[in-house]
Amino acid sequence: MEQQLLFSDLGVSEEILSAVEDMGFTQPSPIQAQTIPLLLEGHDVIGQAQTGTGKTASFAIPIIDMVDVDSNKPQALILCPTRELAVQVEGEINKLAKYKRRLSSTCIYGGDPIDRQIRALKKGVQVVVGTPGRIMDHLDRGTLDLRQVGIVVLDEADEMLDMGFRDDIETILKTMPDERQTVFFSATMAKPIMDLTKKYQQDPKIVKVVRKELTVENIAQHYYEVKSPLKMDLITRLIHVNQFNLSLIFCNTKRATDEVTEELIARGIQAEALHGDLSQAQRTKVMNKFRKGHCSVLVATDVAARGIDVDNVEAVFNYDLPLDEENYVHRIGRTGRAGKSGTAINFVTGRRDLGRIGDLERFIKTSIQKMTPPSAAEML
Ligand code: ADP
Ligand code: MG
Repeated sequence: MEQQLLFSDLGVSEEILSAVEDMGFTQPSPIQAQTIPLLLEGHDVIGQAQTGTGKTASFAIPIIDMVDVDSNKPQALILCPTRELAVQVEGEINKLAKYKRRLSSTCIYGGDPIDRQIRALKKGVQVVVGTPGRIMDHLDRGTLDLRQVGIVVLDEADEMLDMGFRDDIETILKTMPDERQTVFFSATMAKPIMDLTKKYQQDPKIVKVVRKELTVENIAQHYYEVKSPLKMDLITRLIHVNQFNLSLIFCNTKRATDEVTEELIARGIQAEALHGDLSQAQRTKVMNKFRKGHCSVLVATDVAARGIDVDNVEAVFNYDLPLDEENYVHRIGRTGRAGKSGTAINFVTGRRDLGRIGDLERFIKTSIQKMTPPSAAEML
């Protein structure tokens, strides 16, 4: 059953309606249409939907409408797996809360001076977004008081568990009042998450929005057979020939990420590397450059790119094929977002890679089309 709901049908405030309009959201996405009313009614919710389906606003909107701006105590806590995601989520909250002038939020993550965070918390905030490690740090120091928290969200819960945050998450959940809403959002709902929800949620409403195919239909998927030493030439050519505005290149190691970036720059392409060795300040700088189109190519490892949401990524290159099928879906899901079309281009070097293309096709139940490299002549 296809519902054509509007944001005004969901019971959200006028301030939210104005903000979503400013953001260009004409209609709630299916996960938003289903979870926002449940959260406003006070239910515990499990929201499962693919990457790029608007899960952030699904919890951010009800949180913004539910917090009491007359209180200076944290009332909502959002846990995210990475600093990039935490920053992104807080950014989205700020945009959605544009007309709620008195609402204040802060972002708490490792690699950022703790003193700044302590000062922000002391000043008083209603919404705290953070990564589990740093939240734990503040709890240990007594600089974060979660006793007034009425709603806690585990965003990208599957990623957080994959990254080994389970103990931290449980400790954090235990410091909050029992009388609270506990919310899980995730692209997948594997058993470890279900175990956690049984332990910490009460009578949760389960909202599952699954697409027929695991991969988004509006992504054209291609592969090129290319010998390792020629990969650099091919990628340069493809970027030039197709004139992609923003593209994302995935490598399997930090070293490859740096090497590819340097080579691209040497060939006159404005590229930036994003990987775990960069400081937080550097990462933020790189992300902002990319978002604003000041660099056209971002070269990243899987971990660095988790959940990164940049509109208008036209192409995703797998310079190295991902090591597993789920990562493939995560990677190519960076393009073709919010109904736009995108291209995924895979480099296949040798027989093993070719076999992996077959595995990927079976996993995503779609074919990945073999392409012939453009000749050098086409470049000139
Ligand atoms: P997810 O967390 O499910 O991966 P996000 O919350 O990051 O997805 O949203 C993906 C993109 O879609 C973002 O750029 C966001 O601003 C945009 N978006 C979210 N909701 C809507 C909507 N209702 N209409 C249009 N775009 C939306
Ligand atoms: Mg998300």
